[in-house]
Amino acid sequence: MMQSIDFLGTVITFVAENSLYLLLAVLVLNMLQRRYQKHAQNKRLATLYIAILILVLMVGTVLIVSLDLPDIIFLPLLAALILVGYRFRKQVFPFRLNCRICGQRLPGKRILFYDSNTCEKCEQVE
Ligand SMILES: [Zn+2]
Repeated sequence: MMQSIDFLGTVITFVAENSLYLLLAVLVLNMLQRRYQKHAQNKRLATLYIAILILVLMVGTVLIVSLDLPDIIFLPLLAALILVGYRFRKQVFPFRLNCRICGQRLPGKRILFYDSNTCEKCEQVE
């Protein structure tokens, strides 16, 4: 039991120290998506939602560490974020790895910057 509590503490410290970098990476991606304007509207909103979820996680873990709150609070926090993410999964995670028409693997650019989730060929046909 003691060991699992230590493990939780390690995870919390890691998240508190590193979630800022993840947040910055997502915000940079969000800025890059701006260039694609209407092609990436939904996906740009999605990275914004993801950034908000990461921000909540970051603030939560930093509070747990700095106010010396019990580590166990991390679990309901994480569960709440996962539930919200799952409930709004269409908005939060619209990314698909394969073309929704022909099933071909999509290049990273189309995964991140094109709402259509289709490869170039299929988009021209549609
Ligand atoms: Zn296709």
